[in-house]
Amino acid sequence: MKPQAATGPERAREFGHDASSGGTLVVVSGADDWRLTNQVRYLSGVALHWRTWSPSRPADAGGDWDHDHCAFCWVHFGDHIFEDDPDTQVAGFSTDDSVHWIGQTCCEDFHAQFGWVVATPRA
Ligand SMILES: [Zn+2]
Repeated sequence: MKPQAATGPERAREFGHDASSGGTLVVVSGADDWRLTNQVRYLSGVALHWRTWSPSRPADAGGDWDHDHCAFCWVHFGDHIFEDDPDTQVAGFSTDDSVHWIGQTCCEDFHAQFGWVVATPRA
């Protein structure tokens, strides 16, 4: 007897919510990408600016904040390439307040899904 094909997780469905009508979740195919957690709660429709990295928070008792992570894939952002991470990003897209950072690749992959407005494109 042949094994039955596994029944996969329920397919992501496309919902045609209008982003301007109340900020409901927009679920599109590809929503099972490992990089997606709950970023829709704080990154839907935001403006993004290409910038040289700067810390997302001020120095505190622990000293200077020396790195951030891409909000999606967690790649490092820093002011130099870290010795232990040749993939460190020294520039990327950030929100108006520079709190959230998104790498070039993730910006390309998710910008349609999140409805981002690239206010400051990469030079
Ligand atoms: Zn990323």
